[in-house]
Amino acid sequence: MRDIDLNTRILGIQALWQVTDVEVDTCPRRQVAVHVERKTGAQLCCPTCGKPAPGYDSRRRRWRRLDTCQYKTNLEADVPRVECPEHGVMTTSAPWAEPNSDFTAMFEALVIDWLKEASTAAVARLMGLSWNAILLKVGNGPAEGINSRIKAIKVRSHGFRNKERFANAIYFHLGGLDLYLEGVSW
Ligand SMILES: [Zn+2]
Repeated sequence: MRDIDLNTRILGIQALWQVTDVEVDTCPRRQVAVHVERKTGAQLCCPTCGKPAPGYDSRRRRWRRLDTCQYKTNLEADVPRVECPEHGVMTTSAPWAEPNSDFTAMFEALVIDWLKEASTAAVARLMGLSWNAILLKVGNGPAEGINSRIKAIKVRSHGFRNKERFANAIYFHLGGLDLYLEGVSW
């Protein structure tokens, strides 16, 4: 099976999109770039109202996706923008990612799964991401997971008298440090 066919099947690319090229950088970066294009002639629609709209231009975007045989893998595509008579110039959605996310939905799902099992610092290290990338660029799922862990710290601590200690408890716990503050029973 050719690499383009393989990536088309793995990504579950819908009929409107096609994998056009796969670049493998074996040395020194060990990366794979999968290029995807929207098929010409396909009707464009406004992402807000769903009505057909004329094309305006396109913007090159890149998403981190699941690794290919331990090679860091990115998906790249020119995403069309439309000019909707009602909503103005809008960027159309890509079927493999949430709007405004720099990760494919499958990559986000894996990060979310890992965040249920390990600290944010451990997940960042494992996935080759910065702490900020996880907190700011992954969708609401991980943010809600982190929020629920902060709430759990608050409940288990039975309340901190000073905010600094509470903040430290959050840093210690989410950072994966095996430290326990006075007044916290786990
Ligand atoms: Zn519209």
